[in-house]
Amino acid sequence: MTDADASSRTQDRDTSSRTTSSPTKDANGGDVFADAVRRLDTAGRHLDIDPEAIERLKHPRAMLTVSIPTRMDDGSLRVLTGYRVQHDNTRGPTKGGIRYHPEVSLDEVKALAFWMTCKCALIDIPYGGAKGGVIVNPKELSRLELERLSRGFIQQMADFIGPDTDIPAPDVYTNAMVMGWMMDEYSKIMRRRVPDVITGKPIPLGGSLGREDATGRGGYNCITRLSHRLGKAPADTRVAVQGFGNVGQSAARLLHADGYRVVAVSDSQGGIYQPDGFDVPSLIQFKNESRELKAVYCSGSVCEMINAATVTNEELLELDVDVLIPAALGNQISTANAARIRAPVIVELANGPTTSDADPILNERGVLVVPDILANAGGVTVSYFEWTQNRQGMSWSIDEVHRRLQAKMVSAFDTVYDKARHEEISLRDAAYAEALTRLGAAISAQGTQSYFEQPN
Ligand code: NAD
Repeated sequence: MTDADASSRTQDRDTSSRTTSSPTKDANGGDVFADAVRRLDTAGRHLDIDPEAIERLKHPRAMLTVSIPTRMDDGSLRVLTGYRVQHDNTRGPTKGGIRYHPEVSLDEVKALAFWMTCKCALIDIPYGGAKGGVIVNPKELSRLELERLSRGFIQQMADFIGPDTDIPAPDVYTNAMVMGWMMDEYSKIMRRRVPDVITGKPIPLGGSLGREDATGRGGYNCITRLSHRLGKAPADTRVAVQGFGNVGQSAARLLHADGYRVVAVSDSQGGIYQPDGFDVPSLIQFKNESRELKAVYCSGSVCEMINAATVTNEELLELDVDVLIPAALGNQISTANAARIRAPVIVELANGPTTSDADPILNERGVLVVPDILANAGGVTVSYFEWTQNRQGMSWSIDEVHRRLQAKMVSAFDTVYDKARHEEISLRDAAYAEALTRLGAAISAQGTQSYFEQPN
């Protein structure tokens, strides 16, 4: 996808964002961060890890809330609220995206930062975890208003972030163009060019080849590896994708090219279903031209070209498919629907799509869940490559980026898969166990009670 396409997605004013459940509360109304750290205790129980390390990870190291006065095109002023949470920096500078969404909350940003810490440890890159967000519906802003907001966010955050301390990136409803504005604003404040302060930038401004589709590609690497392990052929694999933005589109495109049957996709407006499988490149073209999937089934000629039934986002999750890919927002699979999920495999490309209390229901029913901290780690991995290239003053070829990404994803996938099989635990528990072992080693290397209570 080009930057212009990505920009137009962010600028989509025709569609309103609707979520099937609030991203800041789990299905039972509990806090997202409390739900996220609950998995620390579950995984920590089976591990030889110092309890101090687990305790440390339950508390983000720093949180900043800012007000961003933003001038609207009609001359009025809107004061928007933004957050940045740095969860843990024991293994390196913190790293994580910035989300623009009306339902952003500090609690949600804390959970997203925690997942980044675990993800960076699991994929073994020298970063801790962070996340940021602004409470705003970017679809209501003009391009100029969006630029003012993005620059305003950096003006308020400039002392909190930096290439050696905390490095932002894109997330939901932010894109390469937004990252470019943010890097430019930071550079102006610092009075020198600082490309390594942010990743996911446009290629001409120091972005990396292969960053745009890195998250979807990393998920695709996991799915092909899993198919290989399960001995399942692509042509026999029906895939449903919830969320047809950057991540969902990239994964669907790569799977389709490999012969997988992408039978259902959805966006915030609803979804479409075609049991024989879609021609994904046409779907992407229609979605990005019309800015909504509805156009795929409601406008004359396209209607005739693509014969599809409409489904709601809730129905899509419960379709009879072989692989379900949540690639939208959090808390989509909960106790409310876990028992009705028919897909035997879920690959979590969204962050936190499954609540912790849905895990046992899925496990009991034998559903294999490739967890978010593994499945969507491709984005931060290529962000790390971008940061590395910026610091080296070099740019790698697309083949080099793909080769290095695949090596990272396959290695992490195999480690998690083998551990899960060997110890008869879920892929999620195995992924957390692997991440926590690395984090525990780093935290313990700074000294814990057992070290300090020894006599000199
Ligand atoms: P995006 O803004 O490009 O796309 C989000 C898509 O989700 C849009 O098509 C939107 O219409 C759709 N959507 C919103 N609400 C929905 C709903 N209730 N049901 C179905 N679809 C809905 O965002 P993205 O970058 O593709 O991110 C998607 C998910 O992947 C997020 O959870 C994000 O945190 C996660 N993620 C993204 C990256 C990355 O590199 N962009 C990395 C890791 C994880």
